[in-house]
Amino acid sequence: LTPKLTNVETSIFTVMSVLANKHNALNLSQGFPNFKSDQKLIDAVSKAMNSGYNQYAPMAGNLELRQAIAKKFELLYDTSYHPETEITVTAGATQAIFTIISTFIKLGDEVIIFKPAYDCYQPAIELNGGKPIAIGLQAPNYKIDWILVEKSINYNTKMIIINTPHNPSGTVMSKADLLKLQELTNHTDIIVLSDEVYEHIIFDGEQHQSVCLFPQLKERSFITASFGKTFHNTGWKVGYCCAPKELMEAFRNVHQFNVFSVHHPTQKGLADYLTQPNHYLDLSEFYQEKRDTFLKLIKDSKFKFTPSKGTYFQVLDFSEITSEKDLDFAKRLTIEKGIASIPLSVFNDHQHDDKVLRFCFAKTTETLKAAAEILNKI
Ligand code: PMP
Ligand code: GLN
Repeated sequence: LTPKLTNVETSIFTVMSVLANKHNALNLSQGFPNFKSDQKLIDAVSKAMNSGYNQYAPMAGNLELRQAIAKKFELLYDTSYHPETEITVTAGATQAIFTIISTFIKLGDEVIIFKPAYDCYQPAIELNGGKPIAIGLQAPNYKIDWILVEKSINYNTKMIIINTPHNPSGTVMSKADLLKLQELTNHTDIIVLSDEVYEHIIFDGEQHQSVCLFPQLKERSFITASFGKTFHNTGWKVGYCCAPKELMEAFRNVHQFNVFSVHHPTQKGLADYLTQPNHYLDLSEFYQEKRDTFLKLIKDSKFKFTPSKGTYFQVLDFSEITSEKDLDFAKRLTIEKGIASIPLSVFNDHQHDDKVLRFCFAKTTETLKAAAEILNKI
């Protein structure tokens, strides 16, 4: 028996959520809202089920949904993706990411990733024979060192994966970052995978810098997105990706034999719901209020922080509290104090000893108050 993926641990999201449940702790670890999705969306999905959307969706996704996604790009970024050839609905962003990587990455290909990195990138690269080239982002700003990126690019570099707003740090990439990426990849064969699942959760009046705003970058990029983040239903696992026609054709060659298509009534319900842009335009304000509530409640605690600029995560520096390793501290907080979080070193191959934990604030005010009460006593 020679399994292909052996050098991995159980995902930290599973580890911490299981521990939180076992000890009846507040679960601010794995990123999911603890409030309900809009009833109108639930009704739209159940209406779709009752009106016959129960057989296979087209392989690339329900066309009305793809059209609604195309409209969203026009409205938000003044750019177009053709619904028939350039947008594909996927089983969450995770499947899109895995399929993009397996569509292009072969033995020996190098893929640049930025660490701390969301946990599904590296295993997907390695399973396909690729070599992750990790570039570190340093707390508290987690800025990309473009000189290091330039030095890391060579003939084997096939892909660069970016993620803005960034999980786990809650930082965002600037226009200057995207321009630099465009300059470095222009006239190369490098594909950019831009994980933009938190595109609608960005704070303090900042604009999300999507790769599609930069024409030469758009040409070589896949964007991945997730309705789970946007509409408070992470368990539905519906997302999408878009890319220029030629790249998308290659993607669909793999996608058709991987999942073929995803849950049809959900797609039809989402298509109807997306006709009202306020359903995603209001999201930043909604989450900024939660961020502000949470930070105000813990401002006198011993944790130090820079307010999150996007995502629904806040990182807290605990260096004034203990010298324990972040994983040990996160487990102890869960077991002894009743609050679960995510240690950042896990997104860094356990190599960094930053004293930082990630807390998810996609929670009701009641939960945020209960969490703050615990954190203020530590
Ligand atoms: N990328 C990032 C940065 C994420 O945080 C997540 C989920 N939390 C995903 C991808 C995966 O999204 P999905 O649940 O739609 O698969
Ligand atoms: N993306 C979620 C997070 O960052 C977790 C998703 C998962 O559990 N795989 O917490």
